[in-house]
Amino acid sequence: MQITPKKSLGQHFLTDSNIIRKIADAVIAPENGKVVEIGPGTGAVTGVLLQRFPGLEVVEIDPRAADFLQQTYPGLTIHRQDILKTDWNSFEGGPISVVGNLPYYITSPILFSVLDRRELFTQAVFMMQREVALRLTAQPRTKDYGILSVQTQLWSRPEYLFTVSRNVFHPRPNVESAVVRLTFDTPDPGVDRSRLKLVVRTAFSQRRKTLNNALKPILKEHIPDDAAREAFAAEHQLGRRAEELQPNEFIDLTRAIYGEP
Ligand code: SAM
Repeated sequence: MQITPKKSLGQHFLTDSNIIRKIADAVIAPENGKVVEIGPGTGAVTGVLLQRFPGLEVVEIDPRAADFLQQTYPGLTIHRQDILKTDWNSFEGGPISVVGNLPYYITSPILFSVLDRRELFTQAVFMMQREVALRLTAQPRTKDYGILSVQTQLWSRPEYLFTVSRNVFHPRPNVESAVVRLTFDTPDPGVDRSRLKLVVRTAFSQRRKTLNNALKPILKEHIPDDAAREAFAAEHQLGRRAEELQPNEFIDLTRAIYGEP
């Protein structure tokens, strides 16, 4: 059975068995782990994943796709729900490896929902727009380097695996795609997450400005004395722009601003 693809749900179904196998090959799940697929659709990747990971569970919002999958794979656990309302804690059975040809209209919120709960995951293998994949893996002083690069690289180890042509989907999307693997084996930055996020977001909100100017509201709040702020700016080289800092430098800067040990 074919279901008519819904644009509003980002439905672009994979049609190339070679790409499907390459996505499944990228999932390196520990034996005791749980594998979860986001947006299985009509099961292009699901069938291959199930052969390798019989305990696979999937999260799908479209009831037509969920019905179809249930008929095809009667034993498959299907969560008929919005991935953005899914509680990652509800999956039992060890650390999660998550995989999916993502609905592109919500790539960033999905990424952040995983990064925010990274202690629950071993890895994520995601197909996304190529331009987003390039941002996740971008290095400082490049045009793609920004909030998404810093947040992803602080909380995971991202790898750009391969580019995927728009010709292997039905219907054909308007953009090129790429598969990225995030591995959650990096040490915890050990800093308050919401503070770190705020500093990164504020620093890049005016990326042409120096950090001294972009971060002024935060700096003024936490270092009200003008002379002390000037000394702080000199010590932390705030004449630089956000795009010049390595992800780790944002940790040091956040700690220093908030006086965290
Ligand atoms: N995995 C299939 C494939 O590769 O052919 C389909 C991928 S398609 C790009 C994205 C899938 O995500 C669709 O099946 C769509 O219904 C589902 N989806 C869209 N929004 C969703 C949401 N908020 N929560 C869960 N699934 C969603």
